[in-house]
Amino acid sequence: MLISNKPNTTGLIFAMREEQEGLEAFIQHKTVHRIAKRNFIQGELWGHPVVMVLAGIGKVAAASTTNLLIHHFQVNQLILSGVAGAADPQLKVGDIVIAETLLQHDMDASPLFPRFEIPLTGKSRFFVQQDLHMALQNATDQFIKTMHQHFSASQITEFQLQDVKSHTGLIASGDQFIHDSKVLKELKQALPNLLAVEMEGAAIAQVCDEHDLAFAILRTISDSADETAHVDFLSFVKNVAAPYTLEILKNYFENRKIQVD
Ligand code: SAH
Repeated sequence: MLISNKPNTTGLIFAMREEQEGLEAFIQHKTVHRIAKRNFIQGELWGHPVVMVLAGIGKVAAASTTNLLIHHFQVNQLILSGVAGAADPQLKVGDIVIAETLLQHDMDASPLFPRFEIPLTGKSRFFVQQDLHMALQNATDQFIKTMHQHFSASQITEFQLQDVKSHTGLIASGDQFIHDSKVLKELKQALPNLLAVEMEGAAIAQVCDEHDLAFAILRTISDSADETAHVDFLSFVKNVAAPYTLEILKNYFENRKIQVD
């Protein structure tokens, strides 16, 4: 059933509640639709129509939610914001990754199909639409330049946010919280360009590919996907990743308004 097809609606997907809450406070003309045990919060953010939803964790939750956003709200683009584990030594906790390419690292139907390939599609990698990628990249770089306005000196020290950088490249998703350097090393050997690991992005990418819909995945590095990965995870999400998401998406929507006007 189609609930709404407001033109130019952006679907915003979150994996964790802490991240959605910050943005929800800014949503205007809010209506909540309950579908498939999720709350789809419809309204406007900085003048742009949005539907935001907490997808839950993992590929099935992400794919199911993406389909609901497409079929009930006819969103014309989708953005997921969340956290991820670093898979490359150049990335540190607090850095931001904007996916250029996504892959499902736990897809393996070999020897029938090459490792990582989604059987019968010929595809293992999904590509983010360039315009949306660039717009998020600009919003992120703008945020990094003004970090000191959003975090106190003691927060910057506590979370080591002195030299935050943004990166673009390959993100791999799978139904696994990676917290083992051996597992990470094996994956990195198979995918030398891998920047980060998480649990939803490539599932959203696959569903968007089926519908020819633009999507983007924005991730703050919360851990190094090794034995220390669980340490203070929720504190980091609340205190660092959630404000990042808020400020980056605010920049994104405000810049977009300037272009449209
Ligand atoms: N402890 C959390 C669960 C987090 S699961 C809780 O109790 O709610 C990890 C979430 O963060 C997923 O949504 C995933 O996309 C992302 N993530 C962060 N670090 C990750 C890692 N090292 N491996 C896989 N996913 C990671």
